[in-house]
Amino acid sequence: MYLNHLECARCAAKFEADRLHNLCPACGSPLLARYDLERIASVFGREALPARPASMWRYRELLPVADERNIVTLGEGYTLLLRAERLGARLGLKNLLVKDESLNPTGSFKARGLSAAVSRALELGARRLCIPSAGNAAAALAAYAARAGADACIFMPEDAPEANKLEVAFYGAELRLVKGLITDAARAMRQSLGDAWFDLSTLREPYRVEGKKTMGYELAEQLGWQLPEVIIYPTGGGTGLIGMWKAFAEMEALGWIDGRRPRMVAVQSEGCAPIVRAFEKGAESAEEWPSPETIAAGLRVPRALGDFLILRALGESGGAAVAVSDQEITRDAAELAQSEGIFAAPEGAASLSALKRLLDLKLIARDERIVLFNTGSGLKYMDVYKRSQDKIRS
Ligand SMILES: *Cc1c(COP(=O)(O)O)cnc(C)c1O
Ligand SMILES: [Zn+2]
Repeated sequence: MYLNHLECARCAAKFEADRLHNLCPACGSPLLARYDLERIASVFGREALPARPASMWRYRELLPVADERNIVTLGEGYTLLLRAERLGARLGLKNLLVKDESLNPTGSFKARGLSAAVSRALELGARRLCIPSAGNAAAALAAYAARAGADACIFMPEDAPEANKLEVAFYGAELRLVKGLITDAARAMRQSLGDAWFDLSTLREPYRVEGKKTMGYELAEQLGWQLPEVIIYPTGGGTGLIGMWKAFAEMEALGWIDGRRPRMVAVQSEGCAPIVRAFEKGAESAEEWPSPETIAAGLRVPRALGDFLILRALGESGGAAVAVSDQEITRDAAELAQSEGIFAAPEGAASLSALKRLLDLKLIARDERIVLFNTGSGLKYMDVYKRSQDKIRS
């Protein structure tokens, strides 16, 4: 394994990687995995990739598992990067692509993070895993725990999408429903579970980001090692955006890509847009969003531990942050479905709404290569979409 150590994203303190960690004990910030990239570059190059399996574990040298037998997999990652010709033509764009994460096990990209985090947690001796989740992370943890024969306990807001609650029950995990938001679910979890349960909350352990960073590796590989000009990404806790930004730096150090970077665009919902507000103010961190409300469950995150990392990536990339309404999301989900045959999660549809905004503001040129992230399947939001469509019609 090429994982060297963990490093605090704020105070740069270093920690051994061969035991379980949550936040930095010195400053309470997320820890990030650091690899021996020089050694990786000397034993393995990108030309070895085409012969490898079509899953995110094709990048195993850049992932945190020591013994391959400990990988808990359901085939996550290496999702399609689809050309969106018809939708692109409607918008006057020549180079529009959709990274379709709905193809992942459990129907969302949460599978990537939890495949990595569950594999590593179990490798380091954890047996009981817990998580607070507004939606898809719940189903993903429950599935990977079942796959590994480990116990999972999941705390969700009681109004989370029905599919996720049902999946958790079918996978045999313990489900506790909490009044309120994901932050309330997290508080309830910490109060009721002791240290015997390992906490897999977003960015509270170092390896969900590692799983999600593989989206950045895949984009580069699928585009012939040339990153796109713009990435539009629905941002809740920001794991994917932080992860991809990290992946780009790693790939440059490995000599796989040059120094050019996409402009990163964080998309949030008008009913919960702490990152957008902070970005507009030029702040380095985000304030908690009071009473968040949106149909995009994955974006209903009032406060993100990694806010400073998201804002840093947006700033360094010359990117933007955009908030869109639930009504736009619902309409654009239908447009994406009609024009491309992709039934997106509301979070994914929000990427299209954001793209339209950016075109109106002339922040994107018509010939740029643009990647929209569809982070999950619309099939997981039947109840949510139905309510939203009824509301628009009435
Ligand atoms: C969790 C989730 C998001 C937000 O992901 P982060 O990387 O944590 O910002 C977006 N879309 C869907 C479908 C999700 O489940
Ligand atoms: Zn620290």
